[in-house]
Order: sequence, then C-alpha cells, then structure tokens
Amino acid sequence: MIAADHPDVYIAVDIGGTTIKAITVGGNGRILARRVEPTFGHASTALASVLSVLDDVLGDARRAGHRPQAMGVCAPGTVDAERGVVTFAANLGWQDLSLASTLSSRYALPVRVDHDARAAASAEFRGRGAFPNSDVLFVPLGTGVSAAVISAGTLARGATGSAGELGHVIVRPGGEPCLCGQSGCVEAYAGATSILRRYRAGGGTAESVQEIAEGIPDDDLAATVWNDAVDALAHGLHGAIAVLDPGLIVLGGGLSQAGDVLVGALRARLQELLTWRPVPEIAVSVLASFGGIIGATLLVADHFAEDEIRTLIHDLADEHTSLPVQPSVDGGSIGTRTPTRR
Ligand SMILES: [Zn+2]
Repeated sequence: MIAADHPDVYIAVDIGGTTIKAITVGGNGRILARRVEPTFGHASTALASVLSVLDDVLGDARRAGHRPQAMGVCAPGTVDAERGVVTFAANLGWQDLSLASTLSSRYALPVRVDHDARAAASAEFRGRGAFPNSDVLFVPLGTGVSAAVISAGTLARGATGSAGELGHVIVRPGGEPCLCGQSGCVEAYAGATSILRRYRAGGGTAESVQEIAEGIPDDDLAATVWNDAVDALAHGLHGAIAVLDPGLIVLGGGLSQAGDVLVGALRARLQELLTWRPVPEIAVSVLASFGGIIGATLLVADHFAEDEIRTLIHDLADEHTSLPVQPSVDGGSIGTRTPTRR
C-alpha cells in the first residue's frame, strides 16, 4: 500500500478562473488523490469553492491515514507571496485576501501561497535540474496569458507583485475588449477563452481550442483566429524581448502542447518582427500543461527534484492524454473569468 509506505503527504491547490485543482501527493511524488471542481460551481464564491474542495481533500487524506505536512497554493492575480495575501484577482473577486492564514488556521497546516506563473516557473527549472542564472521568460498559455520574468537569475516580482502581466500588454489599440478593462490586450486574442470566443463569434462550432488548432488546414476561420492569437502573442513578446533581452523563452500551459502550429508559427512571426536581433530560443515546458499544480506542490515539497517531478507528471498525465479543453495553467491573471464548465 502506498499509504502505508508514505504516510506523510503534501496538499497542492491550483486556483484558476475556471477550475480549482487539488492533489494529495506522497513524499515520493506519487499522486494519491485528485479533485477538479469549477471555481464558480455550487458554492457562492471562489473562496467557498476552494474551502469546499479542500475540506474534502483533507478529510479524505486524514481518513486514509495520511499525515498532511503542508499545503502549497497557486493563485492568479497579484500575489504577495511573503505575506500569503492575494492582493487583487478580479477573476476570483478577491482583494487583499489573507489566503495563507485563512487556510492555515482552518486546516492546522503550514500554507505557502504564490503567483501561478512564478510558481510554475520555479517548478519548471527544478524539473530541468537547475534554476537559470541568466535571463529567461516563462510564459504560461492557458485560459489567459501571463509570464514569469527571470532576470539575471532572479524571479522578478515587481513593485506591486504584478511583474510579468504579458497578457495585458496592449498590442492592438482599440481592439477586442479585455476583461481587465483595457482593449486590444494580448490575452484578448491569445488566451484560450478568447480564441474559442472569437471562433464561435465568427460562426464556428468548435468545442475546444484543440479542435480549432487541428482544423486550421481546411478551416479559414480557424486559421484567421489562430493567426490573430499568434500575432498578438508575438507582438507582446516582441516588447518583452526588447526590454528584457531573454536568452530563452519557455512556453507553458495547455496551449503550449499545440505543437508546431504554435511554436513554429510564433518563431516565424517573431523573425518577421525582430529586424535588429535574432529570436531567442523558444522551448516548450517540461511540465506540459501541469505547471500550476506542480508549482503549487513544489512550494512545500522542498526535497522534490527531477525524479519526483517526473513521477508527478506521469501521474497527472494519466487522465490528460491530449490538449485539455480548459488548459491547466490559468496564466491570465487579471481578468479571465470564463463560463463555468466541467
Ligand atoms: Zn487585458
């Protein structure tokens, strides 16, 4: 029995604008239990949903004889990781929410909270064996678009905790409205929710972004919407490259699994835009679409290295054999509330 061999467990939670994912992880990286619930399902608020999911997960773990050691939590928005406070997350309706202390006192556990993209970036490089001592952009592409900025080997948080809000760089002034209140943001074209919404607004009937990506060769509408997404992302990255001079861009999140239709097209568009310097190396995350939940795990599982992370990815992938309809990393941080859907 895994439970008897590894009674000490960690609880990890990835809170997104669409779903809340929670897992119970053994000290060897094996996933012992998992839950995915809509963020705005039966419960009246996102916090009530989080507590409902965690009541079940913690209850099950303790009934199974596991000993939860600590809880890691990823949240979108602007997050003060030191204080464990989500200072602002419009898509969750949160402002100055002391999430770590709320959860810590309810479950009698140490709790660490961090921003989803930054936690995923830290996990990415633990999975690759070393944190870079150079300049790197980690870009989760999911429901929304975000970035973690690594500058000279340091994860930048910014003056207000909102460094890396790539999704809300305006690339088409006066363009599509974004839920953040601006118009023409990267996320309004390249977020998975936006891609699906724009495709359907044009008369398309796809159920998922994967379907749209696969339809590109024969479907003009799919090609147009996808090209708009790649173009918006390329323009956003163009600005980030000019300012930060990264040597490597790592694409994460569910959309990063789309293959050459994304990576090749993005590289080609950046080559057209960047007349004065080469395009940085572009790679796909080793965490596939699981950056958020693995990032949350690694906030508290300090000893996890490549082996445990490989085990985590293996167990997570068991039920995710293809690009998910709702990508797993909720990269867009400011305004990505989407219709609730399982
Ligand atoms: Zn925006």
